[in-house]
Amino acid sequence: MRQVYVNGDYLPETEARVSIFDRGFLFADGVYEVTLVLDGRLVDFSSHMARLRRSLGELEMPFSLRDENLLEIHRELIERNEVSEGLVYLQVTRGAADRDFIYPKEPTPNTVVLFTQKKSIVDSPLAVHGQHVVTLDDLRWRRCDIKTVQLLYPSMAKMQAKSQGADDAWLVKDGFITEGSSSNAFIVTIDGKIVTRDLSVDILQGITREAVLLYAGNVQLRLEERPFTVEEIENATEAFSTSASGLVNPVVSINGKPIGAGKPGSITADLRQIYVERSRASAI
Ligand code: PMP
Repeated sequence: MRQVYVNGDYLPETEARVSIFDRGFLFADGVYEVTLVLDGRLVDFSSHMARLRRSLGELEMPFSLRDENLLEIHRELIERNEVSEGLVYLQVTRGAADRDFIYPKEPTPNTVVLFTQKKSIVDSPLAVHGQHVVTLDDLRWRRCDIKTVQLLYPSMAKMQAKSQGADDAWLVKDGFITEGSSSNAFIVTIDGKIVTRDLSVDILQGITREAVLLYAGNVQLRLEERPFTVEEIENATEAFSTSASGLVNPVVSINGKPIGAGKPGSITADLRQIYVERSRASAI
């Protein structure tokens, strides 16, 4: 059985417990990170921890564990669960306190939970066939830069996409794509530019997005960070999404219309390969 980490203890998942008064449960008052594991090692770990600190800071949530402690816990779970490829989830809430909108006055220990998912990520059928995506209104709150556990709308959006026979939803705000339900969105324009929305409160600053922009720049691809429209996707030669769980993931249709040749594009495939190689080389 899978071993998980809860507030200092390693336990079988069925024995792990959190309080019914946990603010994560009552108010979605919590943040999280998901780190990719390749060859039993963590990809972009320090970037994930930096983003965690930023999310905690934006919510004024005290947190005492240091990055070294967190790295040790991640590694311990990878070892105990024999994860060679997959994901490690780190969930942190403001802890348990009697129900009140106001943050607890007394210092409250965080609830810290980590768990692993073993998964074949590099060899994924979606990377071979490409994702079919539909667009939906971005009905999320206005601080999408904070990685909170408040994932109900992304979950609804994914359900709606599935019910339309698609793999995922890309979200639209004021006529422009913000991002995917759980990924950042990219297109490749007819003149060969890679376009993704610029960072703001409208999107999560994806760790994979950042790495892909860096690697794309290294191989002299032209980059543009700006909002783009659904029409621009229809006229793009390629499209893809990025996330720790999907890596660089081709998108082959939008609202039923093929993008480019209607199959995964070569720039996307190259970026996926570069991303996997560099990630394997730099994982810790
Ligand atoms: N945007 C959203 C809304 C997400 O949920 C995710 C995945 N957690 C991403 C982007 C991609 O971020 P990352 O590359 O750090 O996984």
